[in-house]
Amino acid sequence: MSDKVIYMDNAATTRVLPEVFEAMKPYFTEYYGNPSAIYTFAGTANDAVTSAREEIAKVIGAKTEEIYFTAGGSESDNWALKATAEAYASKGKHIITSKIEHHAILHTAQWLEKQGYEVTYLDVDENGVIDLEQLKASIRPDTILISIMAANNEIGTIEPLKEIGEIAKEHGILFHTDAVQAFAHTPINVDEMHIDMLSSSGHKIGGPKGIGFLYIRKGVKIRSFVHGGAQERQRRAGTLNVPGIVGMGKAAEISANHMEESIAYQTKLRDHLISRVLEEIPYARLNGHPSQRLANNANFCFRFIEGESMLILLDQAGVCGSSGSACTSGSLDPSHVLLAIGLPHEIAHGSLRLTISDETTLEDIDYVVDKLKGIIEHLRAMSPLYEDFIKHQK
Ligand SMILES: *Cc1c(COP(=O)(O)O)cnc(C)c1O
Repeated sequence: MSDKVIYMDNAATTRVLPEVFEAMKPYFTEYYGNPSAIYTFAGTANDAVTSAREEIAKVIGAKTEEIYFTAGGSESDNWALKATAEAYASKGKHIITSKIEHHAILHTAQWLEKQGYEVTYLDVDENGVIDLEQLKASIRPDTILISIMAANNEIGTIEPLKEIGEIAKEHGILFHTDAVQAFAHTPINVDEMHIDMLSSSGHKIGGPKGIGFLYIRKGVKIRSFVHGGAQERQRRAGTLNVPGIVGMGKAAEISANHMEESIAYQTKLRDHLISRVLEEIPYARLNGHPSQRLANNANFCFRFIEGESMLILLDQAGVCGSSGSACTSGSLDPSHVLLAIGLPHEIAHGSLRLTISDETTLEDIDYVVDKLKGIIEHLRAMSPLYEDFIKHQK
């Protein structure tokens, strides 16, 4: 075992930024009042929630009162789909989404199908981009919602939000986007992109886990998801997670202020990683769009390799990576995203996702590629399939 830890799984979760942790601390032990209370003591907590809401709204060009705090990305996704389905059922029961969404969307959509809704799952091309013509062709008079993710959590592909938003708007259909991987990582403006609802999560941007928000455009009819007190304009009950909200606000502020620099820095490292892997490791391919992708994401397939074995050996070298998404590893099914971009099962099984951050260095990348080369050589040397393949090559 190595003492070294090289963390390259930032799409699964991120380290809480030290400034974020500092900002949160007083709201546990000093300003612990319930922000809904009348007395002055609770005012500090209430003010902190208001500032966080303002910071977040600014990042996506929304109004402060359009930001609703939730317990994370999964809750926001569930809320957006289920509550819209209910509120607009009299208009229709058809929803359009894609085959590469996070399970928080896909499993919610499947649940809605059991409740009598119809769902169209759009295909994606070999780079993971949805087909806008197929989107247009799928729209029906009873379509109430289009939900397409802003950027994919496995292969990093960024979807054409503005074009999707324009199509939705033209047809008078609501547009929701799961922006958990994209918020504060890539520029998003809800007005320019005609986004009606947007999901986000604190722990993917250097904030704490268990906090997120749903942006809901003013005028969108959406039912309350958690019933109880009057918090969040009576749409999401529950005492506000003040430290979490403060942390998410701080993380959003920092990430948004450094977005351009982070994108430039991470793109440089990512491209170095990608070119070294493709040049130095035979039978490797890059998954996801070559350029329209998150700056922090690299996703590869290695033929004749089993993802899990690769991850275990990388772990022994101190490297944290992922194969498929965190939610599906542990199961033997290959990633639904890799199947959707057209990879056969046996190739999809040998995938590796490495997601970097501003803390990643060039030395880290070189260390990981050096280790990976050895690991893949070692695993292939034990593979009868590979042996067979090489024999036939000759
Ligand atoms: C992580 C993630 C989620 C879930 O967010 P949680 O805050 O962990 O519930 C949803 N969608 C995408 C694209 C994600 O990457």
